[in-house]
Amino acid sequence: MIVVMKPSAKTREQEAVLTWARENGFSAEILKSDKPVLLCLRGDTAHLDPERLRCLDGVDSVRRLTEAAPLAARSEGREHTAVTVAGIRIGGGSFAVMAGPCSVESRDQIQALAKSVKAAGADVLRGGAFKPRTSPYSFQGLGAEGVALLTEAGKAAGLPVVSEIVSPRDLPLFEEVDLLQVGARNMQNYELLKELGHAGKPVLLKRGPGCTLKELLLSAEYLLAGGNERVILCERGIRSFDTAGRYTLDLAAVPILHEKSHLPVVVDPSHGTGCAVYVRPMALAAAAAGADGLLIEVHNDPTHALSDGGQSIRPEELKELTVRIKKLREIL
Ligand code: PEP
Ligand code: MN
Repeated sequence: MIVVMKPSAKTREQEAVLTWARENGFSAEILKSDKPVLLCLRGDTAHLDPERLRCLDGVDSVRRLTEAAPLAARSEGREHTAVTVAGIRIGGGSFAVMAGPCSVESRDQIQALAKSVKAAGADVLRGGAFKPRTSPYSFQGLGAEGVALLTEAGKAAGLPVVSEIVSPRDLPLFEEVDLLQVGARNMQNYELLKELGHAGKPVLLKRGPGCTLKELLLSAEYLLAGGNERVILCERGIRSFDTAGRYTLDLAAVPILHEKSHLPVVVDPSHGTGCAVYVRPMALAAAAAGADGLLIEVHNDPTHALSDGGQSIRPEELKELTVRIKKLREIL
């Protein structure tokens, strides 16, 4: 069982709950010590009425661990959570488009793209600097310099930025990055997730191509249990028997995750299909399925992109897409 203490709860109230639990035969410990404090009770809690705990001083709510991921789960009647990234609301009825190149390649490239995706209606600028590439011989990204160029371009265009972090050791480089992306390959890098649980920044958590939705929610739980309440889930395609697209974009994940979790869900139709011509139809389908946003790769010169050019759309195509999404959402 997890006991969520009120932000105003005193240390002695928290101690009283722990003592009460121990005296009643449970083992009890502090799961998260910064506010709101979370306490974890272990033992045979099946017959323990949560109300007995809820009426103790300082207790806000009590959640039974019948759910594998209780903090990510959406309990009966709970509203969907909106995550705010530098003033941009994602989820809870607000839709955001995150767009930009797969990789930051140069100052000129990212400056030009930042301006054009902003003009095309994007809310957040994306750009990878630490690239987890399948081959060690592929372009690995500009690293620290790429992060700096991205944040500079975001500021110039007036857009918050999202970029992938692959190791906690790089956190100091991401100080000015508004949203930390955990890539598909790192969805189950639990040490990274633990660190990002208390990094003080929102996280965009991408689904691993071989991972179930339950595993995605358990990875989100690592972030939430560490005290990070700003978690956005991202469906980006899974590996199936079909090789027609780069991956199989599992759009059923959107309503399923919305049913099971209160967290916002965005869709990446670029990696999900691997081919620019499929990106716009699947982006519209994602919006129709109830997604809270999109992550889209955009490039000014896709044929010469250093990574993922084949799945990158052009800024003018993004513009057309954002207009159609707006209309579609109005109809819906
Ligand atoms: C990306 O968004 O650039 C990326 C590498 O995506 P994924 O982790 O989903 O493969
Ligand atoms: Mn990419």
